[in-house]
Amino acid sequence: MPRRSYKFKIGVLALQGAFREHIEMLQSLGVETVEVRLPHHLDGLDGIIIPGGESTSIGRIGERYGLLEPLREWALQGKAMWGTCAGMILMAKDVGMDQPILGVMDITVLRNAFGRQKDSFEVDLKIPALDAVSTRREKGKPFHAIFIRAPVISSVGPGVEILATLDDGTIVAAQQGNMLATAFHPELTNDTRFHRYFLEVVRRTR
Ligand code: GLN
Repeated sequence: MPRRSYKFKIGVLALQGAFREHIEMLQSLGVETVEVRLPHHLDGLDGIIIPGGESTSIGRIGERYGLLEPLREWALQGKAMWGTCAGMILMAKDVGMDQPILGVMDITVLRNAFGRQKDSFEVDLKIPALDAVSTRREKGKPFHAIFIRAPVISSVGPGVEILATLDDGTIVAAQQGNMLATAFHPELTNDTRFHRYFLEVVRRTR
């Protein structure tokens, strides 16, 4: 792994779901982390991750704690934000359901898109964008993607770049400016490339 020091402070929304795994991965990269539970926890952060979990719970708790509006502002100001799975649902403009969301990214998502038979599965994805942060050994290596009751991106707006699709063309990762969204869970693997990719997005915003 490249020895990079990231002098960033990254917040992980810590209301519900898989936030610890993101924090551990960031810390393994030498990043200072903050568990975000209240609006003032956003002060001084360089980037924010919205983890997987249950998007309805995260949305409701976030609403109660007054976090949704500051998070919306955050994204609209062009600061770096990455949502994984439920986090991606929260970022989407359209989720086809009535639930509290941020609605900041020009994507439409379909929740629990794989249904019961394929509740959870793992698949190797080709993600060329990761080459930008890859070591020589990592270059071109597929990314092992873990999907857990995952949503998919059913459509993207004009300013959105598709980062990864399944073999059948289903969109599972996208980027719009400094916003990243993944339907799968990089924090549950040992592969830090996606986190490093996000940290490069963060670097660009500073
Ligand atoms: N199914 C969850 C939802 O709709 C997302 C699952 C996940 O984050 N692993 O919110």
